[in-house]
Amino acid sequence: MIWNKTNECMPREQMRALQGERLHRIVEYVYHNVPFYRDKLQQMGITPDDINTVDDIVKLPFTSKSDLRENYPFGLQAAPMSEIIRIHASSGTTGSPTIVGYTRQDIGVWSECMARCLTAYGITRDDIFSVAYGYGLFTGGLGVHYGVENLGAAVLPASTGNTEKHVRLIRDLGATGIACTPSYALHLAETMETMGIAREEIRLKVGVFGAEPWTENMRSEIESRLGVKAYNLYGLSEIMGPCVSYECTEQNGSHINEDHFYPEIIDPVTLEAKADGEQGELVFTSLTKQGMPLLRYRTHDLASITREPCACGRTFARMSKIVGRSDDMLIIRGINVFPSQVESVLLSMPECAPRYLLIVDREGNLDTLTVQVEVRQEYFDQGFDTLTPITDLEKKIASKLRSVLSISARVQVKAPNSIERSQGKSKFVIDRRNIE
Ligand code: ADP
Ligand code: ZN
Repeated sequence: MIWNKTNECMPREQMRALQGERLHRIVEYVYHNVPFYRDKLQQMGITPDDINTVDDIVKLPFTSKSDLRENYPFGLQAAPMSEIIRIHASSGTTGSPTIVGYTRQDIGVWSECMARCLTAYGITRDDIFSVAYGYGLFTGGLGVHYGVENLGAAVLPASTGNTEKHVRLIRDLGATGIACTPSYALHLAETMETMGIAREEIRLKVGVFGAEPWTENMRSEIESRLGVKAYNLYGLSEIMGPCVSYECTEQNGSHINEDHFYPEIIDPVTLEAKADGEQGELVFTSLTKQGMPLLRYRTHDLASITREPCACGRTFARMSKIVGRSDDMLIIRGINVFPSQVESVLLSMPECAPRYLLIVDREGNLDTLTVQVEVRQEYFDQGFDTLTPITDLEKKIASKLRSVLSISARVQVKAPNSIERSQGKSKFVIDRRNIE
């Protein structure tokens, strides 16, 4: 089944023409409604009339996360607040979160794109579908929720937490589909096993996983423990949220909803375009967004794209799995964490030396973050080596980190010069999860 055959299977030339038209319109729209873009385009000597086909996209400026931060909260918003009906905020960023406002039409496009994804996974009106992404400012929960409703399946807005109750509902209601992070799926499987509920007692058949990188090994583990077919779902709040790309039953890359999100792959250093099949940084341009349309938004996600036809009949370009990041962002339990955020918390405390180490691990199926930091010599000399003040300091750091990162970290305060240093470029992060 294909939700929107006209667009999802559109011949390439026709798609290019549609994208070209939409690109022209969106450039015109931001030129007149977003001073940030008007200034940039004027500085580059470009007017909307210079942008007529998708090939003209290379003339446009890039947009980065720091542009969003510098224009916090609404500086890049194009629509007046009277047109905005929903606001999301992306999880962890240095300093201010990224604020994204959606108009009614944006929410419509989002639920259309999400319904396309769900249809590709084989979900129909007959399914009971549990959404176990977090509901709230995070785009995962509500984004998938609206797609399920649009499709017409019965949505179970489980959200995260209270896993035992959720497992019981999946069993009692006979839920057939679920969306969550891959690590939560494994946590769910573990809870099910601890509760003594056998795989045969539940009816899940389709699992939709994303918001963080995952491996083929995780895929087969989730499939065998939950008894589902596991599909990939990719997205980012700045562009929309979950729904930017989705796997079809061929599972040979994820189709990009490219009538709404125009994809490019660039070299993250030279910023030059890369050819199909070559790996580089994914860049998206909003083609239809009203709330906060972005031109050439740099995702920092590394992947490749192919426009070869797919056996499923869809003509949408396919992107590979995300193979890494071109910055140092970590995704821990679905939340974006930059080592620099941790650093700024530590440096704001006079007791801490600027020597620290982040250790990311996976215990059971949950990601853990341990932050080791050295105490400054002068504090250490004042008797900081006795246990109580260290514990207090650890608690103080942990609570600051929790409020900045939105996840809890285990903090270990160490004696001066006790954290091992590598020669040359120092290594601040050890990721033991092995998810590449
Ligand atoms: P949040 O809503 O948690 O703030 P963002 O929208 O900022 O999250 O997160 C988007 C990022 O999450 C992407 O740029 C990518 O790095 C990661 N991501 C999302 N889906 C996937 C996926 N299916 N595979 C790998 N990484 C993903
Ligand atoms: Zn396909």
